[in-house]
Amino acid sequence: MQATGYRIQQWGGALRWESFEVPDAKPGEVLVRVEACGIGLTVLNCIRGDLADDKAHLPRVPGHEIVGRVEAVGEGVTSPAVGQRVMAYFYLVCGTCRACRSGRDSLCENLEGWVGVHRDGGYASFTSLPARNLLPLPESIPAAQATAIPDAIATPLHVCKTRARVRKGDRVAVTGAGGGVGVHMLEMAKLFGAEVAGLEASEGKFEAIRAMGATPVLSRSFDDVRLDRVWDEGAATVVIDLVGTRDSVSWGLKSLAPGGRLVVLTTFRDVEVPMSPRDVVMREMTVLGSRYASKAELAESADLVASGRIHPIVSHVVAPADVETVHRELRDGTLIGRGAVDWTKS
Ligand SMILES: [Zn+2]
Repeated sequence: MQATGYRIQQWGGALRWESFEVPDAKPGEVLVRVEACGIGLTVLNCIRGDLADDKAHLPRVPGHEIVGRVEAVGEGVTSPAVGQRVMAYFYLVCGTCRACRSGRDSLCENLEGWVGVHRDGGYASFTSLPARNLLPLPESIPAAQATAIPDAIATPLHVCKTRARVRKGDRVAVTGAGGGVGVHMLEMAKLFGAEVAGLEASEGKFEAIRAMGATPVLSRSFDDVRLDRVWDEGAATVVIDLVGTRDSVSWGLKSLAPGGRLVVLTTFRDVEVPMSPRDVVMREMTVLGSRYASKAELAESADLVASGRIHPIVSHVVAPADVETVHRELRDGTLIGRGAVDWTKS
């Protein structure tokens, strides 16, 4: 199968528009006709080589938030079937280890990497992936909207449901609230019954934060952010940090109410945050890491969208020729929610 799309020839290098051969689906694998692929900061991190930068994996088609339709299946594949609508799970998991078998897929003990890094992703018209990386997607959800499900919506579900266990009575503060994961985190925390504050460095994203039912808070400098302007109690029961700097995480620790939990999701290298054990004990705080989501949570996220309880915010959908425009908006910090590339427009 001849595909067209973007590939990188070196990590951190430019996207190049190319035609290339996608081989027939191997045993256990599936050829997918890509309908749309999400564009977010993680894709830029992948292109830069932040997740892995082995030259053996080049050239590479980036993009992991893939929505498409099964074009062909390899030997031994019984599901998904040809013609079925699917979305991709980001992590290349083994499917057989203890973590995979107990539904904690993102902790796979034999992780083989990531879609868009170790396997070609969705910045091209076709891609092939292991069958176990593809999950069914309802027909009713438009493709570009659906690209938010496998990461930007599933990640908040994992945080709110499995990690922080957000519930009625919680006061949740989210840093980086206007980004792709951020806006959906706000709506997810609301869905779980919390009052929500969304911290953003850019006032241009306040309207989107309000639309999610959250109170926007300017966080150009974390030194100036005080929650007593949002809540009488002046502190959050849950802080979800999507910024990942020393300042943002320190602010999170400082802003927790007694018994509060801080959830961290970023993986930047060389970020260290001082923590006082005395303070953690006296206020009985919990610090939680949250890593992506399980396959079950992807399926549940699709249900939440299909039933209208979660609304994907994919604010800029472009034809393949305009992918770089959205990359620029991401670098400038002006994109609200997610972007997506629509392959049906090619
Ligand atoms: Zn595994």
